[in-house]
Amino acid sequence: MKDFDFEFKDIVETAKDVVIVTKAEPINEPGPEIIYVNQAFTELTGYSKEEVIGKTPRILQSKGTSEKAKSLIRKGLEDKVAVRVTIKNYSKAGKAYWLDLSITPLFNDQGEVTHIVSIQRDVTEYIDVQNKLKLLSRTDPLTGLMNRRMFDEMAEKEFLRYKNENIHYSLLALDIDHFKLINDKYGHPIGDYVLTSFSSFCETHIRSQDKVARIGGEEFCIILPATNKAGAIEVAEKLRREISNARFSQNDHDIAITVSIGVSEVKESDYDYVAMLKRADENLYRAKRKGRNQVYSLDS
Ligand code: GH3
Ligand code: MG
Ligand code: MG
Repeated sequence: MKDFDFEFKDIVETAKDVVIVTKAEPINEPGPEIIYVNQAFTELTGYSKEEVIGKTPRILQSKGTSEKAKSLIRKGLEDKVAVRVTIKNYSKAGKAYWLDLSITPLFNDQGEVTHIVSIQRDVTEYIDVQNKLKLLSRTDPLTGLMNRRMFDEMAEKEFLRYKNENIHYSLLALDIDHFKLINDKYGHPIGDYVLTSFSSFCETHIRSQDKVARIGGEEFCIILPATNKAGAIEVAEKLRREISNARFSQNDHDIAITVSIGVSEVKESDYDYVAMLKRADENLYRAKRKGRNQVYSLDS
């Protein structure tokens, strides 16, 4: 008895998801040969059916396709098991898109894998939103600098690099001097403007490998990768001097500011970067106590 009056092929042909059927072999180069693609495939990739039949889905991969995702797929083909990965592919015109891709082996009556079916959903919008959210959650909205959360991640990464490769790095803790007076004298919006200009000033007056973060109100931290204390003091002194010479102009006001800076270099007894940050903070407060507009770099 026939259960249905329609062909499954018609359903697959008009499905919104991409469907590709390949032969099971060759797993090695050039890769499994395509024997079928549905309409969604041609719409997404820009390749006609004729152009891809006999080719391999690997023509959709490029430099931006992660090696990890590729090797997961390869392992699935070798082990003859289903795999699901998120992978970046490229259209005929070279446009990148993200796929939620499932690969399933198709067995014949003898239990041998003869074909592979790949069902793919375009998840580019979802991944873009995810990436935007991730960036937003790590960026300070006023200045565009990395925020405390991202700073913690970066500082931890540098600390691991030190532990694994013994590459010393340093931190600078900065706090603008008497910033309350700026707000009191010119108003909060101009205070905001000074914070934003100060941030860009720091970014453009440090070395390209150094990274600035806004930790709180008018407190900042700079990570100096592969830099010992002497190098860090040099960077800090130069920045301190240049800031004190700069003028942040807004609404006919030429605003001068100074900054106090605490320096710390990683050391053997540090359990994590937090210990280092504490030393940089202590030096910052020494600089404040000693009259501000100074760099301090004591060891404890
Ligand atoms: P010092 O650090 O030299 O001891 O003096 P200070 O006046 O800078 O001291 P404090 O750290 O106590 O004050 C910082 C001020 O920064 C207080 C707060 O009103 C202001 N502030 C914090 N965040 C913002 C912000 O986002 N915008 C503006 N305009 N002001 C801010
Ligand atoms: Mg301050
Ligand atoms: Mg402060």
